Amino acid sequence: MNSKDKQGWNFDNSYIKLPSILYSLSVPTPVSKPDLLLFNDDLAKYLGINFKNHDKEYLAQYLTGNMIIEGAQPLAQAYAGHQFGHFTKLGDGRAILLGEHINPEKIRFDIQLKGAGETQYSRRGDGRATLRSMLREYIISEAMHGLRIPTSRSLAVVTTGDEVYREQVHEGAILTRIASSHIRVGTFEYISNFLPVEILKTFQSYVIQRHYPELVDTQNPSIELLKSVMLKQIDLVIDWMRVGFIHGVMNTDNMSIAGETFDYGPCAFMNAYHPNTVFSSIDTQGRYAFGNQARIAHWNITRFAETLIPLIHDNSSEAIQMAEDVLNSFPLIYNERWTRMMMSKIGIALNINSSEEIFELIEKLLAWMIAEKADYTNTFLQLTIKEENFKGIYASDDFKVWYNEWNLVLKKLGINHEMAIETMNYYNPQFIPRNHIVEKILDEVSNDRDFTLFNQTLAALKNPYQYKVEYDFLRNTPTGSDLAYKTYCGT
Ligand code: AMP
Ligand code: MG
Repeated sequence: MNSKDKQGWNFDNSYIKLPSILYSLSVPTPVSKPDLLLFNDDLAKYLGINFKNHDKEYLAQYLTGNMIIEGAQPLAQAYAGHQFGHFTKLGDGRAILLGEHINPEKIRFDIQLKGAGETQYSRRGDGRATLRSMLREYIISEAMHGLRIPTSRSLAVVTTGDEVYREQVHEGAILTRIASSHIRVGTFEYISNFLPVEILKTFQSYVIQRHYPELVDTQNPSIELLKSVMLKQIDLVIDWMRVGFIHGVMNTDNMSIAGETFDYGPCAFMNAYHPNTVFSSIDTQGRYAFGNQARIAHWNITRFAETLIPLIHDNSSEAIQMAEDVLNSFPLIYNERWTRMMMSKIGIALNINSSEEIFELIEKLLAWMIAEKADYTNTFLQLTIKEENFKGIYASDDFKVWYNEWNLVLKKLGINHEMAIETMNYYNPQFIPRNHIVEKILDEVSNDRDFTLFNQTLAALKNPYQYKVEYDFLRNTPTGSDLAYKTYCGT
């Protein structure tokens, strides 16, 4: 099917052509009073969808699934996953894929309604989402996009007019989520654990064609797929480490094969630097702490590799050896790329080789940040301002010692201050969506429909590397420690 309607929707659904055991046809459950709360005009434009104001009501009907967009073929995807280390059968329990839309640049996107009602995979859940959690996903995913980090995106939030019960009563809402796909490590785990190897083979070819077409003609596409997915994941985690992002629930079902950040649940941005930082209320052991994210990505990629064993080589011990060779390269590649990223955060451009001296400089800065509970984002921004303007912890002797050492290293490398600043301004965000601001937005929008702070924040986060004085509120750190701050999965 490929039909383009007058609003510009251009569906070309390929997932539905896969073996039907991989999904179940599910239509969204109607909601009582759809009201369009947020609509992302920039994203709509990029997708080639055009709505005029008088379409608002229709749009709300379409983006709750009360009406089905022409060309859409709604389904829920089957998958499994390791949640906090434990393997479980899952599937879209509250999300419905409308289909795949092709934009004017011929790029394929999943169009998904999150919170669209029960499906075959809902288990004990209600299939719904709260307004607060969908607003949160909208803000954070759009912030990630502004930060130049691969991510699913948010086209709209529509309130449903229905109540959602969590620990208390919440307003229900549906998010229209856009992603290159929603194929997860967990999708492969589902197939490898429960389905015949022929389906695994079919699915692997589908994934390669869709996300890694350059691998189609390689000698061993499975091993190449493993490498490519691993490298994408390494780069993604390094981007998270660059901006202080904590995903919060890096279960294998929340890890995209396309290397995008997605399934925003209890995620948050770190203020004071500490590798053990955790905000998620359910992560009591710190499994998904800031500094653990690379290790977990490696663990998840290992689960992915296990699913590919029968396709890598007919001889399973040979296949395991080949997979291990790839997996064993993870730490080295990660460490090398992490060091390069951190070098760029202190103004040492990517074309300069790392050295023991530079590595130590980075480690010392991080140790100082831990000791002083220094803000991760603002500390790097300090390096671009004049020394005579240093205040607070940055005026301390300890920081000055480090600062002088840093200057000496820059000098040795032939990097002048302007060059360093140019590098730092490219890699270090001026603004991140700070937790206390995000919470304030959620209160103001959900309680009073007051969008002032929301609009300011979204505007700042569209160009988060560009300083503007009016967005200084996003630089202020919360008073006291925010370690008591908790994020929740379903609310
Ligand atoms: P998540 O924590 O959002 O990644 O979700 C993990 C699993 O639980 C997925 O299979 C979801 O579809 C399912 N799930 C989460 N919330 C609900 C809900 N309210 N109703 C039904 N299924 C849900
Ligand atoms: Mg999930």
